[in-house]
Amino acid sequence: MARCAYCDTTILFGGKSQGDRRYCNNTCMANGAMAQAAAQLSDADVRYHVTLVHRGNCPQCSGQGPVDVHTSHRVWSAVLMTQWSSRPIISCQRCGNKRKLGDAAFSLVLGWWGFPWGLVMTPVQVVRNIAGAFSGPKPDVPSDALEKQMRLRLAAHLLSRQQGD
Ligand SMILES: [Zn+2]
Ligand SMILES: [Zn+2]
Repeated sequence: MARCAYCDTTILFGGKSQGDRRYCNNTCMANGAMAQAAAQLSDADVRYHVTLVHRGNCPQCSGQGPVDVHTSHRVWSAVLMTQWSSRPIISCQRCGNKRKLGDAAFSLVLGWWGFPWGLVMTPVQVVRNIAGAFSGPKPDVPSDALEKQMRLRLAAHLLSRQQGD
């Protein structure tokens, strides 16, 4: 099954293609362009920042780490329209789980009311959140997702500095 080249979410239905890469939506496609710029950063530089963030305090609650990428999933519907998204944040396990359970509750309340995708996607997103809360990133090593996110942040910083000149 196809996976989004940016956020690594499995693309169940639809998505956007750019060359041989597939993305969930336009946002991921824009971020994908950034990711290609990010590939030019030096590995040592990225690894240094990844370690710093992983061992640092949580950017959400300032609590103790380890800090990593936690992705929550939500869906909402309005009769003939259903929208779903995956939302990665960099945080500690507690904040990550809080957000996963929050998005599960959000989806349970607002997800169903569309036909047919609301009925299809609501259980999918709820299960993704609950499964994710029990199988988060390993605490002892930074995940590949964290490295990817840090690379993007460094690239964004680099791009904005280049544009500022
Ligand atoms: Zn995506
Ligand atoms: Zn936190």
